[in-house]
Amino acid sequence: MAFESLSDKLQNVFKNLRGKGRLTEADVKAALKEVKMALLEADVSFRVVKQFISAVQERAVGQDVMNSLTPGQMVIKIVNEELVKLMGSETTEIHLKPANEITIIMMAGLQGAGKTTTTAKIAGKLKAKGRKPLLAACDVYRPAAIKQLQINGEKQGVPVFSMGENHKPADIAKAAVEHASKNDQNVVILDTAGRLHIDEDMMNELVEIKEAVEVHQTILVVDAMTGQDAVNVAGMFNDKIGIDGVILTKLDGDTRGGAALSIRSVTGKPILYIGMGEKLSDLEQFYPDRMASRILG
Ligand code: GDP
Repeated sequence: MAFESLSDKLQNVFKNLRGKGRLTEADVKAALKEVKMALLEADVSFRVVKQFISAVQERAVGQDVMNSLTPGQMVIKIVNEELVKLMGSETTEIHLKPANEITIIMMAGLQGAGKTTTTAKIAGKLKAKGRKPLLAACDVYRPAAIKQLQINGEKQGVPVFSMGENHKPADIAKAAVEHASKNDQNVVILDTAGRLHIDEDMMNELVEIKEAVEVHQTILVVDAMTGQDAVNVAGMFNDKIGIDGVILTKLDGDTRGGAALSIRSVTGKPILYIGMGEKLSDLEQFYPDRMASRILG
């Protein structure tokens, strides 16, 4: 389960706080030191942890809290509120154009992050909302990726546009949009190529796609299990091509949770959805408040 160890540690700290009755400033500071350690062990970025702890501390050591009847509860409430804030407070949706226009969504990410699977998951969500999505196979380097998209598209009942491996991704994107316009489809989701590491070619290819068609939303798919690497990847993609939001995959297998807690603060971009399993239905909207409750138990 996601956040298992962070959740366990925080619950221990809070059990001690609750049990104390009256609290001194030193008690709160000692507890926050433990919270800090727990967050660092969860692979939350150091800068984010420092800011988080000082924000909590500023609110938690005041007389209002110390003199209240349940100071432990108040500290926990403050931690909860700051966690929600850290993850962006509001739920952010993928922004779509009106249904009579074509919305172009570009999916980006490193190989293995779960991009192709997530592309099909998103298509299913949009279809359920009454949209008519078309998936476009722009990963021309791995024939298996095209095949995988076709299989997943079929499972979702969503058409897949492919031109094989011998065309430039930007040209495929353009042709896919034309195809959508002829066939009354109003969302085109571009599944782009991922590589093992970020490189110039990869970024240039994404820029070329953006120059060829009017991409309305660029969504980055990152693997939660890679922790701070996922956060760094998100920062780099945002600097190079500009992203509108992040989908965090494999949160079902991420016991630490550092990426979920750091990405918003480091990149300024919201987490839109979380991947909770391999099945095409395992994609959940991201709710910062529910996530904070999940962490605090
Ligand atoms: P791509 O290279 O980025 O297109 O990655 P794929 O879509 O091929 O996914 C790589 C692997 O991760 C596959 O085995 C997927 O089933 C798996 N995967 C994708 N998303 C999730 C998720 O949210 N949870 C889990 N447990 N596995 C996932």
